[in-house]
Parts: sequence; C-alpha cells; structure tokens
Amino acid sequence: MKTLFRDLWLADGSNSPLRKCAVLIHDDRVVAVESEITRSAADKTISLGGKVLAPGFIDVHGHSDLSIWAKPEAFGKVSQGITCEIMGNCGLSAFPISSRNKEHLLELYRQYGAELNWTDFAGWRDALCERKPQIRVAALVGHNTLRAAVAGYGNELLSARQLAEMRQLLERELSAGVLGLSSGLLYVPGKFATPAEITELMHVVAKHNKIYTTHLRSEGDHLLESLDETIECAQRAGLKKLHISHFKTAGKANWGKLNAALERLEDARSAGIRITVDRYAYTESMTQLSVILPGKAGDLDDSTLARLLDSPGERYRVTQELAQSRAGDYWENVTLVSTQAAKFRADGGRTIAELAARENRTPAELVVDLLRADASGTSAAFRGMSGENMRRIIALPFCMAGSDENARPADYSIGRSHPRGFGNAARFLRIRLDENASIESAVHQMTGLAAATFELHKIGLIEPGAFADLVGFDPDTIDGTTDFAHPHTPATGILFTMLSGNFAKKVVL
Ligand SMILES: [Zn+2]
Repeated sequence: MKTLFRDLWLADGSNSPLRKCAVLIHDDRVVAVESEITRSAADKTISLGGKVLAPGFIDVHGHSDLSIWAKPEAFGKVSQGITCEIMGNCGLSAFPISSRNKEHLLELYRQYGAELNWTDFAGWRDALCERKPQIRVAALVGHNTLRAAVAGYGNELLSARQLAEMRQLLERELSAGVLGLSSGLLYVPGKFATPAEITELMHVVAKHNKIYTTHLRSEGDHLLESLDETIECAQRAGLKKLHISHFKTAGKANWGKLNAALERLEDARSAGIRITVDRYAYTESMTQLSVILPGKAGDLDDSTLARLLDSPGERYRVTQELAQSRAGDYWENVTLVSTQAAKFRADGGRTIAELAARENRTPAELVVDLLRADASGTSAAFRGMSGENMRRIIALPFCMAGSDENARPADYSIGRSHPRGFGNAARFLRIRLDENASIESAVHQMTGLAAATFELHKIGLIEPGAFADLVGFDPDTIDGTTDFAHPHTPATGILFTMLSGNFAKKVVL
C-alpha cells in the first residue's frame, strides 16, 4: 500500500527550514520526499490542506511501563501526536525483577493486573509486544528497581558483592538493548545510594557509550548541590551522555537559581559532557503523595509504610511530623490527582486543603488517611514552579519534551492523569510557537533531537528509509489541556497520528 501526502508544509525533524513538498510512504516506510510526486505513484492521496507534516513526536520521559500493557491503545499519547515513548524513567523500570523487589512492584502496579512473569528487559518487552502497543516503546533500566532487585528497599550501604551484582545486571540489560540507566534519587531506595555507588554504575554505562538520565536528588532547595553531585560523578566515571529529567527550579524560594543551574550545565558541556534535559510544559509537578512525608516514614517503601500507618501510635507520630514540616498555606497548592482510597476516588482535581475542610480533618490527618488506604496509588500535583523559568527551559536548544506520564485511555479505569498525559507534546509546541520559535526548530526538539540523543534509529526524521511514524497538525490551533478537573481531554490541532504506516487517530481532513 502506497500513500501520498501532499499540499503540506514539511517539518522533517532535522531543523531544516519548513518546505512545501510531498511525502510518499510504502507500507511502514517513507520512500520519497520530493517537491512534487504525481498522484499516480500512490494507491491513496491525502491532502493536508496546507497544514504541517512532522515525524511522530517522541516522548523522552514517560512512565507507561505497565499502563501500556493494560491499555495498549495509549489514547492519551496517540491523541497528542506521540508515536514513541521512552519508559523506565526516574529510577523505576519494570525489570529486573527478583524475589527481593517483586512483591513491591506487584503492589505498585496492582491496578494494571499484570503478574510480572518476567525477570529482565527482554521478558518485559516480549510481554508488551504481545499486547500490540499503539506507540513505539523504548526503555531505560531504573536504578531503584535495579538496586531493589539486589538489596531490597531498605536504607543500607551496599556491600562490594551487592555492587558487583548490580553492575552485572546493568551489563546484561545494556547488552540486551536498553538505552541507558535512569535514576530517581528522591525515591526509596535510590535516595540511599551514595555518589560512589552512582559513579560505579556510570562506569558501566560509559563503557557501553550509553546515556545516564536522572531525577535529581533535589530539584529545589538543593538543586545546585544535586547538579554538582551528578556532574562530578559523571566526570569521575568518564560518562559522556548525561540527561537531566524534568529540569526545573521547584519552590518559589528557588526560582532565582536557574541562571546558576544553567551555568553549571554550560561548564560541564564545555568540559566535554553532552548534557541534555527534558521538560513537561506545566508548572505543577505530580508524583506519589507519600514523597512529602518527613523523617523515618519518608524512607519507607509503600508496603512497609501502609503497614506502619495501621498502628494508631505511629499514625499519630507521622501526622504530627507532617503537620510541623509544612506551612499552613502549603496545602492549597497540593491537588489530589488519583487514589484508590474508597472515600476519595471521585475527588481527583480537589486540593488537600479543600478535602480536609470537607472531611473535618486537618490536612496532615487527611494525607495520612489517604496513604493508609492507598500508599502506592495515591498521587498528587504540587504547584510551585515558575512559568517564566519553564519557558526559558523549554527554549533551550538541548531541551526535549517529556510528559512524565503514563499512557491512559480516555476513561479513568486505570487512574487519572496529570493534564500532561493528554496535552504535553501539543502544549510544548504551543509554548515554543507563542514565543516565536520556528515550527521546524520546535518540531526538531520533539523528534530529531530526541532520536539522536537517545539513539533511536529510523525515527525522528522524515526521510527515505525511516519508519512512517507521522503526525499532521495545525500550528494555529495545536495546544494541550491544562485542566486538572478534566485531565483526559485530547489535545487540539492534531489532524492524525500514524505509526508504521497505520493511522492511529482518524484523519479529520
Ligand atoms: Zn521523575
């Protein structure tokens, strides 16, 4: 089957100037890109009415590792023009699995109903392939999962034997085709890792000439120290490809640190480290609500935390500590996104302050109620980023779009999303275009740059031989929802998404 796309402006992903031309695809590949191609060359002709044809967007930072197994149609991603996602981010991947981390991962992923009957990357990939996901899947191996496979979720220094075992598992997964190693040093058990441990693992990544991506130990109060730590580790390990995940300055007190952070990146780049970043196009972060717990409770994995909160004495202690650690107005900036806690299932989109008032509880008591009922599945959004800094970060020529979200269906059957789950790619483009960036440069950030950075082959560019992963969009109307009350609202301005020559979203022309 040959399909001809014509009457279009081509942003081919390479950052070369937008040009009027025609694109011919044959089955799953692009076969010709010319200023004119006769209709008789194709079985079918599609006119884009002067709109833009681009390579399918690459979401370099996603968490669909299991959600796409449960809902392979990946509607939230496909509907915003995404055709490829990199999973295994923030230190969390669905492999390697051992007896030390399986119970925890089963609990974390329980809403998806998978039995996790694999042990490694190859097993996970095969399980996904059987479900025929509607986007291309690539993955990093997560440091937290790797560490837990060897040493569980406890706060411990690893022995030389355990470190050697981690290196071996990492070697195996890098050789099997994962793109690199991700870390999430805010989370259990990654937060227990010393710089020496990270450096050891970076050595292995560097040997394979692959990439290390990191959710920094701190993105706010200790942002600069965390960047320093990461860059020093990379220098010691001889690591050349370093990527900062969802780069931000979290918390108003830290908004002024962006220039100092960018200087550090520039210094490292001139010292020979290729540093790249990704960013979602929103000023609210989202993660598990349990990350806000201070003290000992904050060092526990979700299963242990839920058991701890069953004790009235511990519950009281954790509630007191939490209340003391946060200012009263903090809770107006924390929005419940999703939970399986029976009483609160329909409350996504409401703030903790609002829910506490309704339930006649203090905010800290309400948070503890939620975590006791569903420690692993309760997620919240946190307002605290600067819009101006976000726009500056998105404008960096080495910044890519990363949704930080799971692929979701239109309904809420596997939980609610941050609006970025349905809008990030479109919103990222909108922000760039509103700042007068050229269409080709904005598209390049989301396609060719992403593919080159993560070494994804045959995608990210429209050229003969590439996969026919395409998106058609209207640059005047493309945008993504920002609505926490109705987050599963498809992006506007997307005409169609095509994966390997198959339309995923119906042509609306
Ligand atoms: Zn993260």
